[in-house]
Amino acid sequence: MAEPKTNEFMEKIVSLCKRRGFVFQSSEIYGGINGFWDYGPLGAELKRNVKDLWWRSMTRLRDDIAGLEATIIMHPKIWEASGHIATFTDPMVDCKTCKGRFRADQVSEIPCPQRPSKTVSECAGEKTEPRPFNLMFKTHVGPVEGDENVAYLRPETAQAIFAQFKNVLEVSRQKVPFGIAQIGKAFRNEVTPRNFTFRSREFEQMELEFFIKPDEIVEKLNGSVAKLDSSTDLSQARADWGWEVWHKYWVEQRIRWYESIGLPRASLEEYWQKKDELAHYAKATVDILYKFPFGTQELEGIAARGDFDLTQHQKHSGRSMEYFDEEAKSKYIPHVIEPSAGVDRLILALICNAYQEEPVTDEKGNTETRIVLRFHPRVAPVKVGIFPLLKNKPELVQKALQVRDILRPHMNVFYDEAGAIGRRYRRQDEAGTPFGITIDFDTLGEGGPERVDTVTLRDRDSMRQERVSISELLPKLLQQIQ
Ligand code: ATP
Repeated sequence: MAEPKTNEFMEKIVSLCKRRGFVFQSSEIYGGINGFWDYGPLGAELKRNVKDLWWRSMTRLRDDIAGLEATIIMHPKIWEASGHIATFTDPMVDCKTCKGRFRADQVSEIPCPQRPSKTVSECAGEKTEPRPFNLMFKTHVGPVEGDENVAYLRPETAQAIFAQFKNVLEVSRQKVPFGIAQIGKAFRNEVTPRNFTFRSREFEQMELEFFIKPDEIVEKLNGSVAKLDSSTDLSQARADWGWEVWHKYWVEQRIRWYESIGLPRASLEEYWQKKDELAHYAKATVDILYKFPFGTQELEGIAARGDFDLTQHQKHSGRSMEYFDEEAKSKYIPHVIEPSAGVDRLILALICNAYQEEPVTDEKGNTETRIVLRFHPRVAPVKVGIFPLLKNKPELVQKALQVRDILRPHMNVFYDEAGAIGRRYRRQDEAGTPFGITIDFDTLGEGGPERVDTVTLRDRDSMRQERVSISELLPKLLQQIQ
């Protein structure tokens, strides 16, 4: 495939991620392990910000969603009930020549491991017939490795939410419609991990199960179920919303959230799965796709899953999953809308979206290329760089440390006194730090009394600098990073 441009771009992203400490190969000193990635200092901050923002928008800023943090290993019956043991498989083919194993649906796109310049379809090797391959990692609980002790690393966080539905309902005193949100690790023994962190074997998910009344109950209570059309106002939930409107509501909410953290709507696509692509229990599924350099691919899936999961757990556990609706004076198993997002894919999207190279000319007329990550200040791993103009002037250093101590309890700051100021700015540009503060001789009063205790505040994107008094810094910055 001739796609040197995207490969080149991805190579730059991968190299920047390593050079600046966003993402490292897991176990790199031992040659790495395929499909596993570690987040370095900047990556860990970026990831934490993204998860905190999701958690805040899903739980803290709403009355109708409660949080959960469940274990990674659960009772294996969970996966029987969910269908993962029986069906969580990708059809696989083995290449008889290179011995590689590949997903049958990706076979033409994959480089042959023995002849990397070729894709598998060009590899002359004969392929086996597609066979199912279970994607769950198996382990054993306790000292004996018998069949009776088999357990699985969860391949999604969602099932724990269903299994704890009744407990959360009881303690949170919520009424349907309401949701349960969870962020956590998931594991899939992907056959062909690829595209950097996009398809990993260990990754994190941010999932919401939003429980709603079945349409019959909505109709019974309201006389009818609201129709979804272009005039439907999604800003305010209404009692007559059925699953279709709730589903569209969540698609819209999620896209707005992506916009709020810096992914422009134009970089996203909605893909409404066709009838024959839907899982048998799903009424509708929308994938939110991001235009990655290697193709437009899924960031998040938003599925209307009916009452499938709770019904399955009721059947397999023998415990009732019914909800008594006081208003409708009847019992039912709630239906669910599930927005399920991948943290790692989102981090990759944010980095790809933020990366820019631009020519800049310095005061001496020299032009160089500036690499800048234009992260939205909300997600940026470091919010502000703090620089004393010279490190060998104790008054400047002392003032800079004072500024650091004012800001540090409220945001991630990076104090840097090493090297020429231009170099320090560039280092922070490449880390995606939206603001830079320089403490200079004017701060100390050398530029006149009106400049005492003022600093320069530099904007990463425009590179413009303004003079701001130290006392104004905190409110000014907080306004932009929250
Ligand atoms: P795909 O079709 O790309 O394998 P999926 O449809 O199986 O993904 P879901 O089961 O819907 O994915 O999982 C929800 C989200 O979890 C995905 O939208 C994605 O962001 C994330 N995710 C799933 N598998 C992986 C993976 N192997 N690596 C990183 N993130 C993943």
